[in-house]
Amino acid sequence: MGVEKLLGNGILLTTVDAAVNWARRSSLWPLGFGLACCAIEMMSTLASRFDLARFGAEVMRPSPRQADLMIVAGRLSKKMAPALRQLYDQMANPKYVISMGACASSGGIFKNYAIVQGVDKIVPVDVYIPGCPPRPEQLLDGFMALQEKIKKGGSLKGERDFGYNLRRNPIDKVQL
Ligand code: SF4
Repeated sequence: MGVEKLLGNGILLTTVDAAVNWARRSSLWPLGFGLACCAIEMMSTLASRFDLARFGAEVMRPSPRQADLMIVAGRLSKKMAPALRQLYDQMANPKYVISMGACASSGGIFKNYAIVQGVDKIVPVDVYIPGCPPRPEQLLDGFMALQEKIKKGGSLKGERDFGYNLRRNPIDKVQL
């Protein structure tokens, strides 16, 4: 006999981890900033046609302290890299990063002295989205991939190694 039969209908059993992860992935709050042309596609994703609101993430937060998702949309210049890292450090934990587009993920066509050749040199990236620019559907797909990742992660045991973020000082390692 299963415990469901003892408890009757209308009772849902789950773990605290699963409940916390459900809440986290259903209310991601993106930080509102864009770096280059990919940001236009990011803005389109918020509009009615693609409607990121369906995922509970339609409100771009103006302050990193109110955000837990950074969407790096566009090429990152080396001059901007310290500011991007500072914004990331100010975001609420646990926090996540989506690298949107070829430029953010690898420098794209800008293989030169001015552009960081992949934002994962500056912040830990959870999901990479290919394309130049990626369409809003691709950002939605990346968003769902991040939700799936959060769903599978532990919640209360510190599955995100925050020590990694604190120990690492990537700005020093990148030739700025
Ligand atoms: S990937 Fe393409 S669209 Fe996106 S920032 Fe680079 S050049 Fe612009």
